[in-house]
Amino acid sequence: MKLLTAAQTRALDQATVEAQGITSLELMERAATACTLWLLDELQLAFSTEIHVLCGPGNNGGDGLAVARQLHTAGYAPQVWLLPADKHSADFLLNRQQLPQAIRCQELSARRLPMLPAGALVLDALFGTGLTRPLEGLPATIVKHLNQTEATVVAVDMPSGLLADSPQPAGSAIVRAHHTLSFELPKLAFLMPRNADFVGEWTVLPIGLDQSFIHNTDVDNYFVDAASLAGRLPRRARFSHKGTFGHALLLAGSYGKLGAAVLAARACLRGGVGLLTVRTPAVGYTVLQMSVPEAMALPDPSHDFVTELPELQPYAAVAMGPGLGQEVSSAEVLRQLLRQAGSRRALVLDADALNLLSTHRELLGKLPPDTVLTPHLKEFERLTGEPARDDYHRLEQLRAFCREHRCYCVLKGAYTALGTPHGPMYFNSTGNPGMSTGGSGDVLTGLLLALRADQRLSPLDAALLAVYAHGRAGDLAAAETGEAGLIAGDLVQFIGPALRELEG
Ligand code: ADP
Ligand code: ADP
Ligand code: MG
Repeated sequence: MKLLTAAQTRALDQATVEAQGITSLELMERAATACTLWLLDELQLAFSTEIHVLCGPGNNGGDGLAVARQLHTAGYAPQVWLLPADKHSADFLLNRQQLPQAIRCQELSARRLPMLPAGALVLDALFGTGLTRPLEGLPATIVKHLNQTEATVVAVDMPSGLLADSPQPAGSAIVRAHHTLSFELPKLAFLMPRNADFVGEWTVLPIGLDQSFIHNTDVDNYFVDAASLAGRLPRRARFSHKGTFGHALLLAGSYGKLGAAVLAARACLRGGVGLLTVRTPAVGYTVLQMSVPEAMALPDPSHDFVTELPELQPYAAVAMGPGLGQEVSSAEVLRQLLRQAGSRRALVLDADALNLLSTHRELLGKLPPDTVLTPHLKEFERLTGEPARDDYHRLEQLRAFCREHRCYCVLKGAYTALGTPHGPMYFNSTGNPGMSTGGSGDVLTGLLLALRADQRLSPLDAALLAVYAHGRAGDLAAAETGEAGLIAGDLVQFIGPALRELEG
């Protein structure tokens, strides 16, 4: 799914009106109907529920007026609150005229704000994507008032005060919505960590906007759901063999951190790799042979650390990092790996391999093209050497980093972002906070290694599929264990089912 900017969203509305020969008022009615149906279906409102619809002067306010009218028709008793303004949009005014007399309609002012008891429902239709700067004055006062109440807040389009695709000063007045209803597509702002408390749970309501316009619009950012990945993971051919799925090498573990190697190895096997060889320090030999008998062990001469790079010739893909430690000798292994990998062998670097890159920065310039890096936020900050000013700045850093180093970079977290060497970024839709537990990332590294070894997949598809399936495995696991009860090993059990959903 594409993520459009505010300007593109406006253009999409316009294109829809032209392509479908409808008026913008009719389109507004469609959007309002989608909102009304969602409210009735999802919130199961009692007819006695206090409903307050807060309307701004633009099209967002127009949506709110139309929803209020529809709720009234459905037998509810919404009250409308209007924000005074010098100018109103045309469709706002048309909906204002259509508002039934029976609906109580009041003007908002600093002294006249809705009393909102717990159990009341507020529809926030003050400002949507049309917002150009942070709120001040009366709108800011209203938003602060709203945020102090116990009412359930549903935002139409965007929580008022939130900018659609840019950062804003800390402390800006922004509605803290419980739910946000977005039309046709999600918005980049929904995916930013700092916006989570404002956006709440968000839902996309399809309203039949012009698909050919969406198709022909160039965007920087994509939201990856199951539909976006349809057809990217081929079924296994009957006459496939181990070579089709590749021989992978995993360099992982150190004294006390063999678990990371075991988790990554298991995940790699469940990811469908043809053959897996694991290089751990000698201390890991028995552990590995016992706990992952399907993998071949190639112990390092050193007891505690990985200090020597094996001959790379047999391997289609190599992953390095989980539980590795940051010994000088391991940095040397990384240096040799980068030098000897060549351009055809896929590389995945995670965890301590990334920390070694950050401390031996000259190695950053030696990454073979299409290397996949999988930092969490802190590891990424070490890689860039500069703390991000805000969520959007971090994405710029990610884009610049991938361009400069011609690599793929999986910036992990909720809505994991995949940066690509050619520019576009992909935000993952799967996963849950149950995955915030030691070893979850090691599982991703193993799965990614398997898909990078798979000779049928491009680097982009391997990364998209691995990140999505990893999160999906987390969702399937959490459905059984609960989020708190989830441990990284559980993810491994669900890699197979997650991949099977994507196959075809
Ligand atoms: P549109 O009508 O463009 O779809 P909205 O309903 O989201 O968009 O609201 C945009 C309206 O709000 C416009 O009239 C715009 O001038 C006004 N506006 C934008 N930013 C602010 C702001 N920070 N404070 C008050 N009004 C604003
Ligand atoms: P470790 O190094 O302990 O294995 P990482 O921090 O490297 O863990 O990786 C954690 C993994 O869990 C990442 O893939 C990340 O996307 C996922 N994860 C963590 N928290 C969340 C969350 N709140 N929502 C979705 N995914 C999450
Ligand atoms: Mg990690």
